[in-house]
Amino acid sequence: MKMTTISKNEFLLLCENCLKENGLSRFCEENTLLLLYKMVENMLKVNAVMNLTAITEPRDVAVKHLADSLLAAALIPESASLLDVGCGGGFPSLPLAIARPDLRITALDSTAKKTAYVADAAKLLGLNNLQTLTGRAEDLAQMPEYREKFDCTAARAVASLPILCELCLPFVKIGGKMIAMKAKLDESESTMAPQTLGASCFKRHEFTLRGAETEETRLILVAKKQKHTPKEYPRAYTQIKKKPL
Ligand code: SAH
Repeated sequence: MKMTTISKNEFLLLCENCLKENGLSRFCEENTLLLLYKMVENMLKVNAVMNLTAITEPRDVAVKHLADSLLAAALIPESASLLDVGCGGGFPSLPLAIARPDLRITALDSTAKKTAYVADAAKLLGLNNLQTLTGRAEDLAQMPEYREKFDCTAARAVASLPILCELCLPFVKIGGKMIAMKAKLDESESTMAPQTLGASCFKRHEFTLRGAETEETRLILVAKKQKHTPKEYPRAYTQIKKKPL
């Protein structure tokens, strides 16, 4: 959003309409909208010097980043600890931290520049429910302080489903859930990975993302952790890629 192309009030209104259209009117409180605006304004400023997103039109940002991230909110229990695996420019972690102050969110990425941006944004927005973690998911998930320590993981646009399972499920506590946010699902993504890693098979939630000229389908897949993940998972990334579960 070039602040030259749209005023703050225009964005607030656009954002409110977009959230309402997507069944997210519970997140339309004035303070929430103001923080979302501030987040986007900062993101686009930083985006000029560091590649965070290709989506920069105000309407597209509202639909494809804000509403899309918040679609997952309905599937995350009250007061849960949530690990955003591969947070990139902070999606879904930043909008969720703004809209769901009850959550305790950790935004994880292997790129230190990305987690530094997310940490700076959280500070700017005064979000005390969001912290960051830098490293590779497959390494951190083998460490006792992170393994099976989160109520939920969320991941958007990080890897194909079999790979994503191995990156996410080892972090999830028994009784917790892995949430995978997908635009579409290829046949090649059908997998026994959840069962291998101690979880139920995926339950599929389908949403229509409305706004702008677009009406797109979004899938949110949820697997429940039922048993401990066997110690050999996650494997080294080369193995994960070479032989996805
Ligand atoms: N979730 C964000 C970013 C998606 S891009 C969004 O929806 O916009 C994917 C991100 O995942 C990149 O920032 C990349 O650095 C990170 N990533 C990929 N594999 C990873 C791994 N094994 N461990 C940690 N981060 C990883």
